[in-house]
Amino acid sequence: MRCRTCDATLELAELPELVGEAGGASLEILGVKAQSCGEDGHPMALVYPDFPGDLLAALLLDGGLPVAGESGFLRKRTACGECGGEVGEAPDAELRCRVWVKRASPCTVTYRGPVVRCGGCGRVQLRAGTELEDRLRDALLAALGSAFELG
Ligand SMILES: [Zn+2]
Ligand SMILES: [Zn+2]
Repeated sequence: MRCRTCDATLELAELPELVGEAGGASLEILGVKAQSCGEDGHPMALVYPDFPGDLLAALLLDGGLPVAGESGFLRKRTACGECGGEVGEAPDAELRCRVWVKRASPCTVTYRGPVVRCGGCGRVQLRAGTELEDRLRDALLAALGSAFELG
C-alpha cells in the first residue's frame, strides 16, 4: 500500500497510546499498529479493515475484559463470570487486559468506568448487555478515530 498524500510506501508503525471516551467509560489502548508513511498529518491505515470489530470481540467475547453474564430462568440476575455468584453495584474502577487480535499484534487495553462486583469471590467485572457493548464500541471508535479516518 502507498500513502494517498505523498505516494511513499506504507510501513507498520506502533502508535502512542490511543484514548477514547463514551457513556462515562474510557478506554486506553496501547500497542495498536498503523500502516504509515511516517510523515506527520498524512493519513494512516489500520493494519486491516476489520481490526476495530475484532478488537471489540477480543475484549468482550474472547476473555479480554472480565464480564458478568445473565443467568436464571424466571428471575434474571447477573452472575459472576468466575464463580456464578450474584454481583452488585460497585464504585467505578479500572480494569486492564492484554488482548491478541488475529492478524494484529497484541494490545494492552485499560478500561475505566462502571463495574459490578461479585458478592461471592469479590471479582470486579463488567455487566454484560447491549449498554456495555454500545459504550465500549463508542469508546473504541473514539480512541481509534483519534488516529485513523474510520469509514
Ligand atoms: Zn505520506
Ligand atoms: Zn464470583
